[in-house]
Amino acid sequence: MPSPLLTQQNELAMAGVEIEHLSKSFGSNLVLDDISMSVRPGSVTALIGPSGSGKSTLLRCVNLLETPDAGRVTVGSQSIDAGTPLPAKDLLALRRQIGMVFQSFNLFPHLTVLRNIAFPQERILGRSREEAEARALTLLERVGLRDKAGAHPARCSGGQQQRIAIVRALALGPRAMLFDEPTSALDPEVGVEVLAVMRELADTGMTMIVVTHEMQFARDVSDHLVVMADGRIIEEGEPGRIMSDPREERTRRFLSAVM
Ligand code: ADP
Ligand code: MG
Repeated sequence: MPSPLLTQQNELAMAGVEIEHLSKSFGSNLVLDDISMSVRPGSVTALIGPSGSGKSTLLRCVNLLETPDAGRVTVGSQSIDAGTPLPAKDLLALRRQIGMVFQSFNLFPHLTVLRNIAFPQERILGRSREEAEARALTLLERVGLRDKAGAHPARCSGGQQQRIAIVRALALGPRAMLFDEPTSALDPEVGVEVLAVMRELADTGMTMIVVTHEMQFARDVSDHLVVMADGRIIEEGEPGRIMSDPREERTRRFLSAVM
């Protein structure tokens, strides 16, 4: 059965994400220290760890908002090595395969909800306005927000804005999605609506890396849990196992603070 949130094109082409020996410093601050991790196509990896451990920087290196100092990132069959930057055209092509959703929604405040979703499709994919808006309306319908099409983001709740941000990313046909604490700015009861959309996306086979403190979501939805501290992966494995029986003292401490 075709999934409601993904096009057939996405489903056929979900990408894996491979991170190999990635390092990144800001000045003398070593923020990512030789990180390697592997995300299978269609799987969900939850990424947890204390504030400042490098989670956001890692996601930003995956979609190339940051340039790593060393290492390699592969999305699908396209690799980029820190030492040999890709030509701008290839960089854009790689970035286009990865959708990203931020804690702060980042919708365009001066555009309507419909234009927020349609405009990037026109700009980045060269779709006609008609096609882009039709696609936007279909996706809005599927997350229950069709009636918000003509509204500006400020007239939408935080949970609605985040669902719109997810749909905006999906409209571009990504082959993997990165989420950076997508519910941290939301009240718990509103976060639930956003988590439900993410769960549906996971169920339909999207490759996802999710930075989150929502341990129930991590336990129920993710296939793999990665724990970071001080720019390193300190522990990783099956989410239920790590939550019930962490091997590292620092994992234990972090979990007892968030669970
Ligand atoms: P997390 O998402 O786990 O809280 P971040 O990746 O945001 O961690 O930050 C890790 C470290 O990198 C922090 O010490 C932070 O201050 C630093 N950092 C992040 N982005 C920048 C930047 N653009 N310039 C300088 N330092 C940064
Ligand atoms: Mg962060």
